Amino acid sequence: MFTLAIVGRPNVGKSTLFNRLVGRRLALVDDQPGVTRDLREGEAKLADLRFTVIDTAGLEDVTDDSLQGRMRRLTERAVDMADVCLFVVDARTGITPTDEVFADILRRRAPRVILAANKAEGAAGESGVLEAYGLGLGEPLRISAEHGEGMSDLMSVLRPVSEEFEERARRDAPATDLTVEDGEVTDHAPDKPLQIAIVGRPNAGKSTLINKFLGEDRLLTGPEAGITRDSISVTMDWDGRPVRLFDTAGMRKKAKVQDKLEKLSVSDGLRAVRFAEVVVVLLDSAIPFEQQDLRIADLAEREGRAVVVAVNKWDLEEDRQARLVGLKESFERLLPQLAGAPLVTVSAKTGRGLDRLQAAVMKAHDVWNRRVTTAKLNMWLSGMVEAHPPPAPAGRRIKLRYMTQVKTRPPGFVVMCSAPDKLSDSYKRYLVNGLRADFDMPGTPIRLTFRSQA
Ligand code: GDP
Ligand code: GDP
Repeated sequence: MFTLAIVGRPNVGKSTLFNRLVGRRLALVDDQPGVTRDLREGEAKLADLRFTVIDTAGLEDVTDDSLQGRMRRLTERAVDMADVCLFVVDARTGITPTDEVFADILRRRAPRVILAANKAEGAAGESGVLEAYGLGLGEPLRISAEHGEGMSDLMSVLRPVSEEFEERARRDAPATDLTVEDGEVTDHAPDKPLQIAIVGRPNAGKSTLINKFLGEDRLLTGPEAGITRDSISVTMDWDGRPVRLFDTAGMRKKAKVQDKLEKLSVSDGLRAVRFAEVVVVLLDSAIPFEQQDLRIADLAEREGRAVVVAVNKWDLEEDRQARLVGLKESFERLLPQLAGAPLVTVSAKTGRGLDRLQAAVMKAHDVWNRRVTTAKLNMWLSGMVEAHPPPAPAGRRIKLRYMTQVKTRPPGFVVMCSAPDKLSDSYKRYLVNGLRADFDMPGTPIRLTFRSQA
């Protein structure tokens, strides 16, 4: 059985959710923030899923430093006790600075985070849900703890976690020398491994690639799509840096029927993308950019992951120069939203190009975490405006006043301007592309938002 910690700032509805999951009124709920004290634990039941749930309610509103410290310690304790964290935000209030503090703790410390926007019943939570995307913790689940909405979505996210833990318990120290860690999720920062998902259609060569990285034939590979495999992740060392590679084959064993493969492997990819920091989209050079590849790549971008595109089986290509030109063209045309992502050609079989892939992944991860100073950004912004002034609808030039980076993982920037709604998409693209080029930020989505300031 796994342990889920419900974390978030006071009054977002953690206790209400805890009560719903536990089914007994173990935690006290009140309109006043922070009536419940300290951590409490209960046995949760969600349809047929059983798990332990920890509630971190019990913190007064965070106004002074001692409370902030207490909140932090309590949350860290819960995070360390849990296999998965459910980070709850209030869809009606939207994202607050305190939410950002929590998001930071979770990003640094929690091996797995599921984001939930609570109080999302009706339409009142819509903009809060959108804001929650900006936390860089993946797509928020819309839930209403009070009305019991979104529970089946929560269940479908938790089910694979539950299955992993059950399987691990069943296996219980196998007598083989496998170092393959099946859903091993217990270690934490500071040397938390960099989480890398290898996604791609069946037969793209994901297992072969991971084997090559491991240096031994530890994962089973074969010519048939969807062969039975249960590896979930492997941890290894890249030049002194711990990394964890997720193979997305784990759920494929359920696919008994061939034509179910496509669908399963997409939802499988989705799961891997959620837990990853960097996503390697592995393409088969003979059949690159299939529908399924495009969907997963797009998903990774929307989820705000750093992305590296790797074209595999390059050993089979005859005219590599021409092929590369063609691939780059297709890439630009079919995945314009990933314009900044590097494209690396590799052969998982021979190992050629894996050093370049490794370097591209590390670089994408660095960029994903990068913070640019406000001074540099504003100097840059005035240069951009000078070179190409924003449009002047109805004769009044839009003024871009000030810019700052508000988040990392992926980098997010806010520009204060006089009429954000009148700014054209092409001007926004000009700024995003400029940011990417001038600050050397390949392989990461860049979030640029505009706020009104007259
Ligand atoms: P916690 O302190 O973060 O654990 O939050 P509580 O569980 O005490 O809930 C805080 C307040 O939000 C209470 O008044 C709840 O009734 C209310 N609340 C909780 N969940 C929901 C929900 O899904 N929708 C709405 N509208 N209110 C909710
Ligand atoms: P997965 O389904 O994505 O895990 O793909 P596998 O790793 O099982 O590989 C599918 C097939 O492609 C196997 O027959 C591999 O031997 C083959 N393969 C994988 N990588 C390469 C490569 O770089 N070159 C060649 N020629 N074949 C490869």
